[in-house]
Amino acid sequence: MTSITNRCRFPININESLRKKLKKMKEELYVFYKRINLVSERVLQAFLRVPRELFVLPNYIKYAYIDEPLPLMDGATISAISMSLLLCEYAELKEGCEVLEIGTGSGYQAALIAEIVCPKDNRGCIIPIRNKKPVCTIEVSKRLYEFGKKNLERLCYLKCIDVRHGDGTLGWPEKDRKFDAIIVTAAGDKIPPPLIEQLKIGGRLIMPLGSGFWQKLIRARKKSPEIDDIEIEYLEDVRFVPLKGVFGAEKK
Ligand code: SAH
Repeated sequence: MTSITNRCRFPININESLRKKLKKMKEELYVFYKRINLVSERVLQAFLRVPRELFVLPNYIKYAYIDEPLPLMDGATISAISMSLLLCEYAELKEGCEVLEIGTGSGYQAALIAEIVCPKDNRGCIIPIRNKKPVCTIEVSKRLYEFGKKNLERLCYLKCIDVRHGDGTLGWPEKDRKFDAIIVTAAGDKIPPPLIEQLKIGGRLIMPLGSGFWQKLIRARKKSPEIDDIEIEYLEDVRFVPLKGVFGAEKK
C-alpha cells in the first residue's frame, strides 16, 4: 500500500499518539473501501494522499477518519469520506480532466480532485501546468473561502487549484473556460444554466437536486452544444447543505 504522505510544511498540532491512531484508522478505511469495491483504485490512491485531518476544524481532528460529515463554519459540513470519494468516481475523473467544484468548504474535495487529475512526477509530486490550473473551486462564504484556501495552500495545492470567492451558480468567472466535470457540493432545486454552458461536450455534472431533507444525487451528461441536450441519470439519495445564490435552492 502507498504510504500516507504528509506534505504539510507547517507545524500542526497533532501529537505522535494521535498521529499513529489516525494512520491506522485511515489504513483500515482504505482496506474496507477496497473490500466493498466502493470506488476505483485511482480514487482510493487520492484518498491515501490527502490528509483529511488537515481539512477539519481542530476539535474534530480525532474524528477525521470516521466516515461521517463533520461541521465546518457557517452551517457547512465537510462531506462523509465515502461521499467525497463517490463524487470523484461518479464524475469519471482521470488524469488530464479539467474540473470545476461549486462549494469549496474545507478544500478537501478539491484536493482529492487535484490528486486524480493533475500530472505527477516520479516522486508523486504534482507538476504545475503553465498558465492553467486544472482544478477550479468557488465558495460563496467569505470565511469558508479563506479557510479552504488556507488549507489548500499549506499543502501546496494552489499551484494546481484556483480558489475563488463568489456565487458558483453563476459559473466560473472566466466564461470561456470549459470543464470535463463539474461537481456541485450543495443541493439546489435545478441545475444552474451557467454550469451547463461551461460543460464540455461529453462533460459530466454531478449535483444533489431537491430542497427537502433528502435530495437526489444526479449525473447530467452534455450531449451537444444545445443547452437542453443533456442526459440525466439518478445516482442515489443524499443529504447536502442548500445551494445559495442566484440559481440556488429557492427559499420557501
Ligand atoms: N466540498 C466541501 C463541502 C462543502 S459543503 C468540502 O470538501 O469540504 C457545501 C459548501 O457549498 C459550503 O461551504 C457552502 O458555503 C457552499 N455554497 C453554497 N452555495 C454556494 C454557491 N452558490 N456558490 C459557491 N459555494 C456555495
